Amino acid sequence: MSYIEPAPIKDKENPFESMMARFRVAAEILGLDNETYEVLKSPAKQVIVSLPVTMDSGQKKVFTGFRVIHSNVLGPSKGGIRFAEDVSLDEVKALAAWMTWKCAVVDIPYGGAKGGVICNPRQMSAGEIERLMRAYTSAMIDVIGPDQDIPAPDMGTGPREMAWMMDEYSNAMGKTINAVVTGKPLVLGGSLGRVEATGRGVMVTALTAMQKMKMNPVNATCAVQGFGNVGSFAASLLEERGLKICAISDHTGAWWNEKGIDIAKALEHRQKNNGVLAGFTGGDLIDNEQLLQSKVDVLVPAAVEDVITVHNADKIQAKLIVEGANGPTSASADSIIYDKGIVVVPDILANAGGVTVSYFEWVQNRLGYKWTAERVNRRSDRIMNTAFENVYATAKKHNISLRLAAYVVSIGKVAETYKFRGRF
Ligand code: GLU
Repeated sequence: MSYIEPAPIKDKENPFESMMARFRVAAEILGLDNETYEVLKSPAKQVIVSLPVTMDSGQKKVFTGFRVIHSNVLGPSKGGIRFAEDVSLDEVKALAAWMTWKCAVVDIPYGGAKGGVICNPRQMSAGEIERLMRAYTSAMIDVIGPDQDIPAPDMGTGPREMAWMMDEYSNAMGKTINAVVTGKPLVLGGSLGRVEATGRGVMVTALTAMQKMKMNPVNATCAVQGFGNVGSFAASLLEERGLKICAISDHTGAWWNEKGIDIAKALEHRQKNNGVLAGFTGGDLIDNEQLLQSKVDVLVPAAVEDVITVHNADKIQAKLIVEGANGPTSASADSIIYDKGIVVVPDILANAGGVTVSYFEWVQNRLGYKWTAERVNRRSDRIMNTAFENVYATAKKHNISLRLAAYVVSIGKVAETYKFRGRF
């Protein structure tokens, strides 16, 4: 039954291998020829830079930065920049490929890319982060561009960092070019609805999946791992739609409340406490594993990669998993989850609302025009629903999981476009 799911690979997975394990199966289903397979799996460009930055102490520290352009077959490449201590080239390569499939699955005219800088922004001052962001932009000046490669926020970066990036790029070009990055503050050409877009897409795809599964959202129970830009908006929007959010977490801890956590209170607590949930009293303290394995209807992993693995997959009790994070389920865990009958709305579909509204932001910048929040939300909901139905129909047609179906849809699209564009 699960022969078509990727075979278990080794325990601690290399994220690029994890992506490739699914890619290989989808390529087989599509009957992809060898040449196209080789082209689509290989990143188009990988750049590594050393970034000397003056720290507040006056000393120079050299940071390492990456930008990987996985594909520009469908259009200019698109993807965020991650500031994290453990970010690696392999991780950025996987995340860049996921961006290619993500953009293709929601049918927006972008290829995929990702950037990363090895650093711990939590231990850096605003001035140090600004200098690092400007150094990164300057080092990548020939890589990025509004028709070429368009960065956006990811873990550890946000609108503030995008403003610095846009400013540094514009200074180098001698004119304001706001379409070079998305996820900017509103006053600099950011789009209404962008901040909550990823969480909103998670909510929309969760509700559509629940409808297909004949689950009533009202009073359905839900656990959300991660309370950053994705998890916090997903939690509050799902709560608004009637779900009971029984568990939430961030890097400081996890909380459980059978009666439902008051998300507005959690947001207020986070705002008053340096952006963290530590000290929150709206639930009992549990650990992250308990959150993942809790008895809820819906589980939304919206934090980091590889949290559902061979070690805990058979203990997951949720009926539906909606992946707010990129790569929260390792490839080895796929078949365990599938065999248990758990439905997974995969990352490249579930969290594509963010890049969809990034696309709208870029369109607005190029038009020199601003859309209303209502227009942004209406159009992104439509895109997310169309993408879901397309993936759902593909899953039914081939009798495969939604994850593999999402890969089949997106790889099929990029392969077809590649063939039209021709080759060397
Ligand atoms: N970093 C986000 C993601 O992983 C957004 C990327 C973008 O908007 O370009 O989807």
